[in-house]
Amino acid sequence: MGKLIIFSAPSGAGKTTIVKHLLQKLPNLEFSVSATSRTLRQGETDGKDYYFLSAEEFKEKIDHNEFLEWEEVYSGVCYGTLKSEISRIWKKGNHVLFDVDVVGGLNIKKQYPDEALAIFVMPPNSETLAERLCGRGTDSKESIQKRLDKAEWELTFAPKFDIIIVNDDLEKAVEETIDIVTGFISKQ
Ligand code: ADP
Ligand code: 5GP
Repeated sequence: MGKLIIFSAPSGAGKTTIVKHLLQKLPNLEFSVSATSRTLRQGETDGKDYYFLSAEEFKEKIDHNEFLEWEEVYSGVCYGTLKSEISRIWKKGNHVLFDVDVVGGLNIKKQYPDEALAIFVMPPNSETLAERLCGRGTDSKESIQKRLDKAEWELTFAPKFDIIIVNDDLEKAVEETIDIVTGFISKQ
């Protein structure tokens, strides 16, 4: 049976950056493509970054019990992990990697206590988080403020995760993550 590696973090902590490195280094890890009711951003591909659904399509999948978990992560915008993603990836003999919000991450861990490793990516401090969000250049001032406000609440979830990776020096954080994930995957 395959394993489940869960990544959650406040927006801007560097989760996507670490996950990308990990996927390159560990070829038997495969990204679980979530469904979302938000619209596609420039540069994103349907079926690769997300399965982009209308609000109605998303609701239909909820009604048909197709989600392992789902959340209204931002007001009016839903994200969810499809049960079919896990079977699709496990069937290929790969381990599943999730990039989900803190509530979704702990929800998956609760359903798979032994097979799942829940990792929280922590920014070194709030100032750095704000700098990274501004530096990334993908969000408006309002959106950045919304993410920073939410970060305080998200940080309170960190102790509930199996592992906390402090992403200060990126290279060190990536190395540490690779070591931990490799160890967990090779454990019977
Ligand atoms: P998240 O997925 O958690 O929202 P990103 O991976 O998009 O965060 O990272 C936010 C920004 O911070 C990006 O511009 C990224 O290049 C940068 N970043 C990530 N990790 C570090 C680090 N350790 N040091 C400096 N900048 C970083
Ligand atoms: P974004 O819109 O920036 O891609 O993602 C917004 C947030 O939604 C991120 O915190 C991301 O981790 C979270 N997210 C993405 N997919 C899922 C999912 O399937 N379930 C949950 N609960 N959150 C998700």
